[in-house]
Amino acid sequence: MNKRKIEPQKHIALVAHDNKKPELLDWARYNQGTLARHFLYATGTTGDLLVKELGLPVTRYFSGPLGGDQQVGAALAEGKIDFLIFFWDPLEPQPHDPDIKALLRLAVLYNIPTACNRATADFIISSPLMGQDYEFSAPDLERYASHRNPR
Ligand code: PGA
Repeated sequence: MNKRKIEPQKHIALVAHDNKKPELLDWARYNQGTLARHFLYATGTTGDLLVKELGLPVTRYFSGPLGGDQQVGAALAEGKIDFLIFFWDPLEPQPHDPDIKALLRLAVLYNIPTACNRATADFIISSPLMGQDYEFSAPDLERYASHRNPR
């Protein structure tokens, strides 16, 4: 395994399915002061809402069903995202279900702190580790170099 470091100013991706957007927005409003100290990223519609309702600066990817989840997954694999707040909807089928599964898989693979519900998000954001450097293990990509550079 490789060592990676998360700096005190973290790169946080936020994603919420439609039925979960009010909950994410409420959570983000409650934690607005804390979130404002970090770099924020989101899938398209979630990001639009965060910008419009809270005025937070957010780097926006495509909407989830149009590839946004895959973009977040790629950013996470590239080490550009430190945290994932992903309020996915366990009660509604989603057209981009494979993308959701892929994003969650990468989050586990890359050892990314991930909150899929509000209680977990509360614990993550109130962790003392939020304000400090955090060293953690990430997959050793050299071991898979042949997969990364196919000939
Ligand atoms: P959205 O995408 O923020 O564009 O709604 C979220 C998702 O469905 O993954």
